[in-house]
Amino acid sequence: MRVTQEGHLLQLTWMPRFFPVNCYLVEEADGLTLVDAAMPFSVKGIMDTAARLNKPITRIVLTHAHGDHVGALDELKKRIPEAKLYISERDAALLRGDRSLRADEPQTPIKGSVPTKIASKPDVLLHEGDSIGSLTAISTPGHTPGSMSFLDERTGALIVGDAFQTFRRTAVSGTVVPGFPFPAMATWNKAQALSSAIKVLELSPKLLAVGHGNLLKAPGEQIKQAIHTAQLLQKKVES
Ligand SMILES: [Zn+2]
Repeated sequence: MRVTQEGHLLQLTWMPRFFPVNCYLVEEADGLTLVDAAMPFSVKGIMDTAARLNKPITRIVLTHAHGDHVGALDELKKRIPEAKLYISERDAALLRGDRSLRADEPQTPIKGSVPTKIASKPDVLLHEGDSIGSLTAISTPGHTPGSMSFLDERTGALIVGDAFQTFRRTAVSGTVVPGFPFPAMATWNKAQALSSAIKVLELSPKLLAVGHGNLLKAPGEQIKQAIHTAQLLQKKVES
């Protein structure tokens, strides 16, 4: 496991060279917020890193409910039952294994590894604008219907889950990147992903933290370029 620190944010990465999977520890005065829960084998790395920081994990927040973001969840909840679990109201259904769409949603199929055996139940269902310590929840649907991003109000760091990837190339969810097409293949709705990417750009994040790929400092230009590429692909589909 690799650890990369930027201020209050620690990025934990498994398999960084060929299939990077990230989760994050966000330092607060009184404890740590874990954002995403990576893979089943990630438990030890997460617990060891928290122990090294000498602070308890008090919250577990999920960007979305795909398998590579909830893998260690049940085991972590067993070891730290006092940690509260947060996920968007919408993706809480995915966390239960429910792939059905709602009437007001684009009727494109939900893709990717929706887990079917997660025992953990959310303690808090998130909506746009909710606060989780220093983080503000921002709805960024597209990869899944309930995908959320989390803005650290202290630093401008934005954890976006799979709304973007930065591995191989910075891309909006749904844009196929040669050498790492997996996030694109797991994307529910490209039009929504593109709208969410524009919403991310308008937040002017100082640091972009994704599910798959390295941290990106001053990411504005690369976000713009990724949006431009996604818009061109969208036009191709429409014409
Ligand atoms: Zn992912």
